[in-house]
Amino acid sequence: MTYLAGLPTPFLHESTCSWIQRVCQVYDLSYGQLHAAFGIDVRSDPDLNLSASDIMRVARAGRLDLSVFSLMRVTLGRVAERKAIRSLVLRDELRYPVYRFCPLCFSEDGIPYLRLEWRFKAWEVCEAHGIDMPTKCWSCGRYLHHSRSILSGRGGYTLVPSLAHCIVCRGDQRNFPASAFSYPKAEVFQRKVRFQRAVLSALVHDYMRVEPLSHRFSVSEMATLVGLIGLDAPDASDKQLLEKMGRRDRLHVMWIIEKALTCKKSSTVRKAKSKELARKYFEAWREKFD
Ligand SMILES: [Zn+2]
Ligand SMILES: [Zn+2]
Repeated sequence: MTYLAGLPTPFLHESTCSWIQRVCQVYDLSYGQLHAAFGIDVRSDPDLNLSASDIMRVARAGRLDLSVFSLMRVTLGRVAERKAIRSLVLRDELRYPVYRFCPLCFSEDGIPYLRLEWRFKAWEVCEAHGIDMPTKCWSCGRYLHHSRSILSGRGGYTLVPSLAHCIVCRGDQRNFPASAFSYPKAEVFQRKVRFQRAVLSALVHDYMRVEPLSHRFSVSEMATLVGLIGLDAPDASDKQLLEKMGRRDRLHVMWIIEKALTCKKSSTVRKAKSKELARKYFEAWREKFD
C-alpha cells in the first residue's frame, strides 16, 4: 500500500473536500493525481468522490487514527455511496458543488477549513456566531468553488493561500464586512438550528422518526421529502413540514400526504416515489391512532 508520510489529520467536523484540498496541498497534487493513486474515479463533486470505505483507504495510507474520520464517513461518505440522498447537499444553479460558510469561523481557524455541515442544504445558520451563512464571496459575488485542487499548483487554477479565499477575485472571506452579516431573529434562528440538527442527525443515524409516529423512515425517504415538499425552507410559512408533522392532528398528516401527491416540480419517477412515501406515512399514522 502507498504510504503517505505527513498526511494531514482532519480537523473537527472537516468535510471530505476540505481535507482532500489540504492533502493535495501537502503533496502538491491535483485531485486526479491523488485519486488515481488509490484507483478512485474523479467526479465533479470533491465531497462525493470518496465513499466511506475510500476515506478509510486514504486514511490508512497515512496511518492516521481512523476514529477521527467517523463523522465524515457517516455523512458525506454516506451521501457519496447513495444516489438517493444526493439531493441533501448544496449545489449552485448549474449543479456545481458549493458551500455555505461562516466568515467568523474562518477567522477563528488557525488554518481555515470547510465544515462538513456547511455542505448540506439544510444547514443555514452558524450555531456558534448566530448568523445566516453566506454562499457567495463578499467581494465579487461568486460562489466559492472547490471543484479542483486550489491549494496545490496542479489544479489548473491560480493558487489561493487558503480555503477562505475566493478563486475568482482572491478575496479573503475573513474580511467579510460585518455590515453584510444577516442575523436571523431569535425564534427563526432556533427553528433553523433544530431543523438542521434534525437533518444531520437523521443522516448520522441512518433513519428518522417523525413524531408522533413510531415508524422508522429511511434517510432516502427524508431526502425525497426534502426534495419534493421543501423541508429545506423551514421558515417559509407553508413549508414548515417538520413542525406540522409533529402535531397529533389528522388534518396535518393529510396535508403532508396531499403536498407529496400534488407536488408540481416532480418528475414521474419522483412523483411515484412520493406517492409511495405518502402512503407509508398514512399507514403508519393509521396504525398508531385508528
Ligand atoms: Zn461561525
Ligand atoms: Zn470573489
